[in-house]
Amino acid sequence: MKLEPGMLIKTNFSGPYRIKAIKRGCRCQLHSNRMKGIDQNQPSHIHLTMTRPDGTGRFWMGHFDEGTLLSLQKTYCNKTELGYDRIIIMLQDQPVQGTLF
Ligand SMILES: [Zn+2]
Repeated sequence: MKLEPGMLIKTNFSGPYRIKAIKRGCRCQLHSNRMKGIDQNQPSHIHLTMTRPDGTGRFWMGHFDEGTLLSLQKTYCNKTELGYDRIIIMLQDQPVQGTLF
């Protein structure tokens, strides 16, 4: 399922959130690589701007593959082993308008 603004999602370690905006086709460097001075091509990925389900707050999350909903990097967030974080699409509480493109 394609992510759309208005959708309710969570991750394996946080949430729930409501998607406010999606930036697609980004190839920016992973923060962890930048810290290590590594400069390698990154696969196309998305960045999300999100709020709480009630529309309050503002959260940012990036470097996820929209096809697999997996992060490009591994963390220990809520895991005992290093693993890829993932986005989980929740049951929607209101109709989500699909985009045409
Ligand atoms: Zn990026």
